[in-house]
Amino acid sequence: MATIKCIGILTSGGDAPGMNAAIRAVTRSAIYNGIEVKGIYHGYRGLISGEIKSFKTENVSNIIQQGGTILKTARCKEFETPEGRAGAYETLKREGIDALVVIGGDGSLTGARVFAQEFDYPIIGLPGTIDNDLYGTDLTIGYDTALNTIMEAVDKIRDTASSHERLFFIEVMGRDAGFLALNGAIATGCEAAIIPEIYTEIDQLKELVENGFRKSKNSSIVLVAESPTTGGAMHLAERVKNEYPQYDVRVTILGHIQRGGSPSAQDRILASRLGAAAIDALLDGQRNVMVGVRNDEVVYVPFSKAIKYDKPINRELLNTLRKLSI
Ligand code: ADP
Repeated sequence: MATIKCIGILTSGGDAPGMNAAIRAVTRSAIYNGIEVKGIYHGYRGLISGEIKSFKTENVSNIIQQGGTILKTARCKEFETPEGRAGAYETLKREGIDALVVIGGDGSLTGARVFAQEFDYPIIGLPGTIDNDLYGTDLTIGYDTALNTIMEAVDKIRDTASSHERLFFIEVMGRDAGFLALNGAIATGCEAAIIPEIYTEIDQLKELVENGFRKSKNSSIVLVAESPTTGGAMHLAERVKNEYPQYDVRVTILGHIQRGGSPSAQDRILASRLGAAAIDALLDGQRNVMVGVRNDEVVYVPFSKAIKYDKPINRELLNTLRKLSI
């Protein structure tokens, strides 16, 4: 196996707080081990077009506390085509980059896997997504910060909600995963979380209404995961208006504030650990794995598993939420 003298690093897909801490950790850990680092801007798009800059340790100074990503991120349709990926491979050869570290979510790691197989090229992935929906890791970079942002926002909405007798649906991000909604609901004392993982098994809205909201409560807040499965908060509010008109329903969609802000201590530490472990993995000769954390230990998960399997929701948490919302 050829020795790795130079690595490239990029962020791709949805941005997440803590990506900068990961860029810093990968860069510094590589330089510490005598490996040259090149920053690739705008994800796979910049890899194809060659938006690349040599990184020294000072290029990643003072970024651990910043949200977003200094490398910028993008979605790139071209990378989904063989021609686009061939262009990306040309760039890597031209720049003398021997391996890539890709920080992103499910889509970005899928792209990494396809590319790695096609060109027999070493790539290490870091799970960077607020959704926490990657299999094989307990946590993803950005999830904890987003959860804290949700908690602060819901606390504020509760102040106004409790002044009226209303049913509030608050939509949070999570695409096809209910981690933010479920844990956000527990953290804020919500009445329920409506999540895609179980929405097709039981009609959660019906269950919620039929179990009745406690009379002594003067407001009820339900967190809803944005998802085609649940239909999101607007869809559920429509259903309430039609099926249960006795409720005065309001909707708040938290939207992009969930992605922003300075990363939490947990996300900074996670990103730092995983970033350093990405370089350890390359030095150990590992290829095409995502670095994750399980039971507080760093683990290496083959791309095939991280992408293929759905991360299960902990159903015990649903019971806890039910018990505590009486
Ligand atoms: P995330 O990484 O946050 O899940 P996306 O799903 O938007 O974000 O994916 C980010 C990028 O990853 C896409 O714009 C595309 O360039 C690349 N990608 C996703 N799926 C594939 C695929 N099947 N083949 C090649 N590239 C892909």
